[in-house]
Amino acid sequence: MRYLILSDIHANLESLEAAVEHAAGKYDQVLCCGDLIGYGADPNAVTEWVRAHAAGVVRGNHDKASVELDDLEWFNPVARAAAIWTHHALTPENAEYIRNLPKGPLAFDGFQMVHGSPLDEDEYILCVADAGLVFGYLETPLTFFGHTHLQGGFIWNRARVETIGKTPAAEERQTLELDPECAYMINPGSVGQPRDGDPRAGYVLYNTDESFLIFYRLPYDVGKAQDKIRRAGLPPLLADRLASGR
Ligand code: ZN
Repeated sequence: MRYLILSDIHANLESLEAAVEHAAGKYDQVLCCGDLIGYGADPNAVTEWVRAHAAGVVRGNHDKASVELDDLEWFNPVARAAAIWTHHALTPENAEYIRNLPKGPLAFDGFQMVHGSPLDEDEYILCVADAGLVFGYLETPLTFFGHTHLQGGFIWNRARVETIGKTPAAEERQTLELDPECAYMINPGSVGQPRDGDPRAGYVLYNTDESFLIFYRLPYDVGKAQDKIRRAGLPPLLADRLASGR
């Protein structure tokens, strides 16, 4: 099975459409590691695309916060304003879909998906020390996660944890060989709000018949997504940050 792995779309329809078009013909099923909505101006269009096309989705903290309006004390003022805006923008059908998204981990053939970490959907796996605490609890050698908006991840090679870097700025793709002796925490990168200094949308293609996966980065119409955020009355910072990928 060939999977298109998405994460942290954050209501950015321009980046989602660009990623899907970029990956066209190279996948059979779509999976998403959460945060369909929050921050961007197209929560309904993005949710409807995911409802129609994704075979598996775990909920993210922004999905949960935008429908329930709880946990907002953990959000900074900009994220809180976006969650409240999104709450009012969502149609009842889309809110119902988001409300029923399962909490990770979600198991597939030989791998699993989570939003933050397998132990806590709200936890950020940012560094080798964070990942080291998680590898001992993994039930599959391959886990896809999101939440940090940083493409790459971590390898446990039975001796230590090593970092997988993002796709280089001059490259469109990066191939990672999967060693059966190792375990992997893979972040496909954020589709709709990258924070690793590269504004390009990120995703991963993974074919379960192959012993590698491929990270991708692609440009999209950032200006259009920014205009929609500004016109929607969302905090302008949410538009500005898309250009810098921070
Ligand atoms: Zn997110």
